Amino acid sequence: MSTIQHNYQSVTQRLQQACADCGRDPASVRLLAVSKTKPAAMVEAVYQLGQRAFGENYVQDGMDKITALSHLDDIEWHFIGPLQSNKTRIVAEHFHWLETLDREKIARRLNDQRPQSMPPLKVLLQVNISGEAQKSGLLAQDVLPLADSIAGMEQLSLQGLMCIPEHTDDDERLAQQFRDMKTLSQQLQETHPGARVLSMGMSGDLELAIACGSTEVRIGTDIFGARDYSATQK
Ligand SMILES: *Cc1c(COP(=O)(O)O)cnc(C)c1O
Repeated sequence: MSTIQHNYQSVTQRLQQACADCGRDPASVRLLAVSKTKPAAMVEAVYQLGQRAFGENYVQDGMDKITALSHLDDIEWHFIGPLQSNKTRIVAEHFHWLETLDREKIARRLNDQRPQSMPPLKVLLQVNISGEAQKSGLLAQDVLPLADSIAGMEQLSLQGLMCIPEHTDDDERLAQQFRDMKTLSQQLQETHPGARVLSMGMSGDLELAIACGSTEVRIGTDIFGARDYSATQK
């Protein structure tokens, strides 16, 4: 068995175990394979194992793989990195999801640039749940107003929320942030019932995130191995 096959199997087993441990249906948690900085051939190898949803953080790095793998017509590309306004067109024209929306200006550009021939771009609002000063994402109180304006944008489809919690070894602190996200997600669904996705949990904390209600975990390192950032320097 190849390393990547072994890694992929152990991640899917961890996911199933995490769901079993808190009495959740494994089908209620999607696995997003985060392939940033990794070559198209590795993405294709994971696709061949049955994986369909892949996450990319850098526009050009992601676009290179979308082009190289255009023969895989049911592959699903999620943009999960910070998005500058001068790069929105590439995301609007080539990705299926954007998980890091946190500004109305970016939403408007994406809505204008999404081709009419494509289904609406699925979006998650990124929440700065720890309230750290330098971090991207909306503060909790700004989620509903942005959700309301996105609801009027025909080429965007609001699917839910995403967060990158504080980097901490304190599990209780982390769990509190995940639980705050769950509460926010429930509040959002009162007025936006279609916004059911809650994207949280990475290689190091997927079990905790699932126990707290995550519906999508984003796993990079534990599937693809450690990253080499030179691929993103071009
Ligand atoms: C890189 C990245 C991940 C994956 O992190 P790992 O710790 O490698 O699993 C998940 N989410 C986002 C937003 C990322 O940038």
